[in-house]
Amino acid sequence: MAESLSTDVLILGGGIAGLWLNARLRQQGFATLLVENASLGGEQSVKSQGIIHGGAKYALHGALTGASEAIADMPRRWREALAGNGELDLTGVRLLSDAHYLWSPGTLAGNLTSFFASKAVRGRVDQVKGDALPPALQHPKFKGKVYRLAELVLDVPSLIARLAELAGDGLLAAREIEPLHEDGQLAGLRIDGRAVRAQRIVLSAGAGNQALLQTLGLSQPAMQRRPLHMVMVKAPSLKPLYAHCLGGGPKPRVTVTSHPAADGQWVWYLGGDLAEAEGVARNEAEQIAAAEQELRQLLPWIDLSTAQWATLRVDRAEPAQSGLVRPDNAFLSEQGNLLVGWPTKLALAPDFADRVLAAFERDGLRPSANPPLPALPRPPVAQPAWEELLG
Ligand code: FAD
Repeated sequence: MAESLSTDVLILGGGIAGLWLNARLRQQGFATLLVENASLGGEQSVKSQGIIHGGAKYALHGALTGASEAIADMPRRWREALAGNGELDLTGVRLLSDAHYLWSPGTLAGNLTSFFASKAVRGRVDQVKGDALPPALQHPKFKGKVYRLAELVLDVPSLIARLAELAGDGLLAAREIEPLHEDGQLAGLRIDGRAVRAQRIVLSAGAGNQALLQTLGLSQPAMQRRPLHMVMVKAPSLKPLYAHCLGGGPKPRVTVTSHPAADGQWVWYLGGDLAEAEGVARNEAEQIAAAEQELRQLLPWIDLSTAQWATLRVDRAEPAQSGLVRPDNAFLSEQGNLLVGWPTKLALAPDFADRVLAAFERDGLRPSANPPLPALPRPPVAQPAWEELLG
């Protein structure tokens, strides 16, 4: 007969939201089990650009309000965790850049005036020149203005690997998930035939939350997907660049992050407006051509003659939004023993965990006596997308 297990908190989905929450709960003495049906971090998290936003980008279109400033505190919280004196010990996680840059290639005074007038950015942005410019922009032909934002860029694969370490023996690779009802209540889940009972169940499965809710016979909270068509380019001539390049509109024209490939070269990962609606409508060849044209126009001195290119389609999974999007808070919904949510950004994983912990605190939930977990099949940690596509 399949074994039955019990834990305090059963977490479904091992992206940044589930892994961060899991580590925080364990640190507070809760028994946890995190279930992953593919690879840890393998959906949105390792496909993200790893920018720990402080909200500066949203000030460009005025969406950052005084009432929603959770994001403004994220760079500090992550920085402390990386230094080993924060809410989690993330020492060993690779910091790719201790700043993200805002790069205005032309004359965009209008846009930038309101940006710099915004309360959210005041005191947090400095113009940089000469040697202080990001290496990729240090060229005599470079024109434009560059501002340093107090935001970090992380190597997400090393972050996921560290959080998997902090999960100890509490990880379970599983495929089939069914509800386990007792006395008319959701008491746990039946996972590949094992009955797992828990005080609380948290769904943090990104785009997978929708199917999990269906399995549990629920239709709320509703989810939306935002498709993106990202571009990767690897070339010996590339130097690190972490920047939002501004265009005329409210969104960055292109957002560039740089990631070290196993062969020692840099991979530039291109998002921003390039990867949104029009980019999503392009096929792979058209999207690569559009990206190449952008880079040739913006950085004509960079030799792309031997570059390798690839594109990556991925959906952002978020709570369904009607009207104005509030990009700067995690989302959590509660239904009895079940909690469901989306961090909406990698940077907001700490805010997601805060919300779950606050709900537990309010309910007086305490760690209970659980027998130790047996040896369980462990899910793999995801490989970086650029190794799979350009390796
Ligand atoms: P995911 O990372 O998608 O993880 C969900 C996990 O659940 C997966 O491992 C999946 O396999 C698993 N799963 C699914 N179904 C089941 C099931 N039935 N049972 C068990 N497990 C299941 N945010 C930032 O802050 N900064 C950025 O620079 C940034 N850049 C981005 C760039 C791109 C291209 C994209 C797509 C997103 C970006 N984001 C960024 C947003 C960020 O990546 C996401 O908000 C965040 O990673 C979501 O984390 P998550 O844990 O909720 O979901």
